[in-house]
Amino acid sequence: MRLILLGAPGAGKGTVAKLLTQLDGSVQISTGDILRGAVQAGTELGKKAKEYMDRGDLVPDDLILGIMEKRFLEPDCQKGFLLDGFPRTIPQADALKKILVKLNIKLDMAVNLEVPREVILDRLSTRRTCVNSSCQAIYNVKSMPPKVAGKCDKCGSEIVQRADETEAAISKRLDTYNEKTAPLIGFYKKEGLLFDVNATASDTVVNAIKRKIDGI
Ligand code: AMP
Repeated sequence: MRLILLGAPGAGKGTVAKLLTQLDGSVQISTGDILRGAVQAGTELGKKAKEYMDRGDLVPDDLILGIMEKRFLEPDCQKGFLLDGFPRTIPQADALKKILVKLNIKLDMAVNLEVPREVILDRLSTRRTCVNSSCQAIYNVKSMPPKVAGKCDKCGSEIVQRADETEAAISKRLDTYNEKTAPLIGFYKKEGLLFDVNATASDTVVNAIKRKIDGI
């Protein structure tokens, strides 16, 4: 399948993407994970992106588009992809449209994960992430704690609260989402690709997407 996952930070895009990859081998492409990996590795991209990310601001479109143009050419995208955190602005959505036309790739739909703000605030403040850049597994201290406190079940690395998941950065990220990313809902509605789902529970979302894709 070829999907865009839209939704505020904490709406569950990453969790839903991981569940969907198990269905048909589509690959999860998370620009946030790619950027965190680059920050940790200390690459030029990471150095440029870090200050925006720590503040809860979006990284400039040209940096993101530079990553994504190359990413679609990698062989693992052939079975399908789940875009998690991209596009995040109207210029990114316009650029994505052009890239896909050039590569002759058709999107199935843009899924909009709808979650009440109080659920998002609670999820983000209790979320923990594995520091290993090739793992980045996600936990929740309330609903999905690791088996051993502070250690990743999958790779044993430390799990931490992300720098952009402090109260101030969360609030900034939600404002940024409302201002810059929420307009994409109208964009994909016009394109005839929008699918709204109530995303309070991730497995309900996955089932709704499966049913919709089967019906397409
Ligand atoms: P995420 O893990 O998707 O919440 O992304 C974490 C941070 O990475 C965001 O707050 C942005 O600073 C940056 N980021 C991720 N994806 C994008 C994107 N498509 N455009 C701009 N910035 C992004």
